[in-house]
Amino acid sequence: MQQHTSRTLRSYFVRGLAFLLYNYRSRFIAMAVLDIVHYGDPVLLTVGRPLVDGDFGAPMEKLAADMFLTMDKAGGVGLAAPQVGLSQRMFVMDIPETDERDQCKVVMVNPEIITVEGEQTGDEGCLSFPGLFQVVQREMRVIARAQDVNGEEFEIDVDGLAARCILHETDHCDGIVFLDRMTPLKRELAKRKIRRLQKAGDW
Ligand code: ZN
Repeated sequence: MQQHTSRTLRSYFVRGLAFLLYNYRSRFIAMAVLDIVHYGDPVLLTVGRPLVDGDFGAPMEKLAADMFLTMDKAGGVGLAAPQVGLSQRMFVMDIPETDERDQCKVVMVNPEIITVEGEQTGDEGCLSFPGLFQVVQREMRVIARAQDVNGEEFEIDVDGLAARCILHETDHCDGIVFLDRMTPLKRELAKRKIRRLQKAGDW
């Protein structure tokens, strides 16, 4: 998911310095920036496969590290595996700290929404829809369950932007894009804008 704000200084810092990550097993992981697929690619409309035992550990750490780097470079706050062309149920999220909230940085593998509560309405963007921001209504609070990079199960209870992001990224794992969550009128306006951007070669 993408916030409608300019890139922060922190993001430039991470871009500049985070190409190598030294992890707890004393191995260097060479991080790579992945290609982000745009709306029109069928992988975005495909239900991702659940991840199983052999997917966890080192391969998942590497994928998560690459996705954090890719997301940060693109100025996003959430990125799901289908957005880098992998039809898998997994996403990364990094909501920056502000005066009102703490940083919320997490890898969620096989995410499941357990409970939702309340409502929020606000602008939403998506790294697979470059230049498109549209009002989307979502629930205000989310309790979700997932596995970490090593397959350990955990629960997370968040509200506001983090809740919006978890709902947006879990949708990606189900082959649902934020166009599908807009009102019919907003969806039509968004599709027209996408066609204009495609014609201009900006998609
Ligand atoms: Zn998205």
